[in-house]
Amino acid sequence: MAERPVCPRCGSPVSWVESQSKGGRTYYYAVHYYGYERVGKRIRKRVRKCYLGPELYEYVSRLHSDLGLKLEGAVAGSKRAVHYLDAFIESLTRVELDRATLIDILAKLKHLTQRLEEYVRKVEEIEREEATRGS
Ligand SMILES: [Zn+2]
Repeated sequence: MAERPVCPRCGSPVSWVESQSKGGRTYYYAVHYYGYERVGKRIRKRVRKCYLGPELYEYVSRLHSDLGLKLEGAVAGSKRAVHYLDAFIESLTRVELDRATLIDILAKLKHLTQRLEEYVRKVEEIEREEATRGS
């Protein structure tokens, strides 16, 4: 895997992030850089830009980077969930959290645990049904 963050739009590695201000708002673009090309006598940078979103997005990204999360594209597939979870667990030892936030996180994790257990039970049920049908 590349060290560079992956573009959430196209899944390619991001060379850098660019911002453009229009009418008091800032819009962010992931820039994919493909080197230089000669156009007549001029040298031009070959780039492709993906629109990431307005300011709010930057805030979310920053929040994610505080929590040690790298924005990963769809290419990361189902492993992305595990990566996010690992990063989140790891962040808990680094980020200072107040009591209210901890209680909130705990409640969400309990709810998540229940849902995952239900999900695993359903998957096991389906597997059992398929196994009996197969024999
Ligand atoms: Zn892109």
